[in-house]
Amino acid sequence: MKYIFITGGVVSSLGKGLTSGTLGALLETRNLKVRMQKFDPYLNVDPGMMSPFQHGEVYVLDDGAETDLDLGHYERFTHCKLSRFNSMSSGQVYENVLQKERRGEYKGNTVQVIPHVTNEIKGRLYAASKDVDVLITEIGGTVGDIEGLPYLEALRQFSLEVGKENVLFIHITLLPYLKAAGELKTKPSQQSVAKLREIGIQPDILVCRTEEPMDDEMRMKLSMFCNVEQRAVIEERDVEHSIYELPIMLHKQGMGDLIVQKLHIDSPESDMSSWNDIVRRVISPSKGECKVAVVGKYINLQDAYKSVYESLAHAGIGNDCAVKIIRVDSEEVEAQGAEKILAGVDAVLIPGGFGDRGIQGKIMSAKYARENNIPYFGLGLGMQVAIIEYARNVMNLVDANSTEFDANTKNPVITLVEDIEKGTSMRLGSYECQLEKDSLSAKAYGEEFIKERHRHRYEFNNLYRDKLAEAGMKIAGVNPKRDLVEVVELKDHPWFVGVSFHPEFQSKPTKPHPLFCAFVAKALEHASSK
Ligand code: GLN
Repeated sequence: MKYIFITGGVVSSLGKGLTSGTLGALLETRNLKVRMQKFDPYLNVDPGMMSPFQHGEVYVLDDGAETDLDLGHYERFTHCKLSRFNSMSSGQVYENVLQKERRGEYKGNTVQVIPHVTNEIKGRLYAASKDVDVLITEIGGTVGDIEGLPYLEALRQFSLEVGKENVLFIHITLLPYLKAAGELKTKPSQQSVAKLREIGIQPDILVCRTEEPMDDEMRMKLSMFCNVEQRAVIEERDVEHSIYELPIMLHKQGMGDLIVQKLHIDSPESDMSSWNDIVRRVISPSKGECKVAVVGKYINLQDAYKSVYESLAHAGIGNDCAVKIIRVDSEEVEAQGAEKILAGVDAVLIPGGFGDRGIQGKIMSAKYARENNIPYFGLGLGMQVAIIEYARNVMNLVDANSTEFDANTKNPVITLVEDIEKGTSMRLGSYECQLEKDSLSAKAYGEEFIKERHRHRYEFNNLYRDKLAEAGMKIAGVNPKRDLVEVVELKDHPWFVGVSFHPEFQSKPTKPHPLFCAFVAKALEHASSK
């Protein structure tokens, strides 16, 4: 087994997760099997309860783990299967240590950060050390943070235990550009590496995030002061078009060669053909452009709908077209009307969400898409609002609602289903769904039995099932075990699909999701019919 540890220096938001995913992708182009994981130094047990303002999107895995959005990057860039064991926070580490202490497992010893907390961290590394060639572990936060110290100490011990020749430390750092001086500065990076070395970790590779190109002199300086080989000082410029340029950018600088050499791995040369093709499609798509409105309440946050935006980009790659995403604030739709705000868009997508702020705007957007034959894709809450809209405006159930927004509605078309997994109130993780033969969804998937990831509390109320179908909304997919409605579609409409699950968690640039592909194909049709 070989190990790569990724740390960050100087500032947060350097795109460590993206770089980690990219390294995974580069190793996979050499036929190596990788596993990826993230250690987060914060004390929350998981990000499930963190606000999107704090943390961006909550990324859900097959097993129902609610994780950091970096795990989304890992799944998009590589083929590794992730589980709750690939995401660990200090909250979990301390929870485990304290439970062991209460069970008397420390046999009366004083429980301390070293060795008890560090052992717990190393335990995770050993547990993940099987079935793959390389384990890539990203450490959240920035070197120098107090809360990150136990992790770095654990990594130092671990590299000694498994042999230094099997471990690679990669430090990602920032070269700030000082406009007044007209130059990039290396001092913060030097200091951040010095902090690492103080703890006993010498980085093997330095990845320098920069807006401007780095010259040889800077490379020499960084090499000397940071004690890193010159060829191992890698420039990572801001990408021009898409994050999927990263594997090629780092490949061109010999990153893959460097890693396999330093870790003494025997592997074939990289086959970059699929990444080259992806980037070609992103930079110069051959089939024109469509405009997709994403109507949500966190549209000003870069990361709140991360996987949705990425999945739309993947569908653009799949259809060889450009997808222009128009971020629409649902409260703006409420204030100014859907006709005004959504005029000219080729498709409407409503992502998942919780709470009633902006709901009316989402209902108005679904109505606009339905009445104007604009392709519509509703995810989670997006399916629920489409049903509420249909019940109110087509079935004349004027007060139809979800009990999430009105506990006393006379027509609870969306409601809590009591028997949802005992102990948890959320339906989380992968569930099976049987699709109706001939439905738009079955056509898109090319199969009738699928598995998708969920994260919701409320369900379609089966008391309304027959009435809804009679009124023209098709029940196109059902969870066979529990008879829960998972997919609804409209008959007399070009493409109107609502799903209770989140297909955006299973889309990759190398394998765009079939529903997103079908949706974007229809958006493109709409664009070319104008
Ligand atoms: N708030 C809704 C629920 O809990 C929808 C959640 C979602 O979009 N996944 O059911």
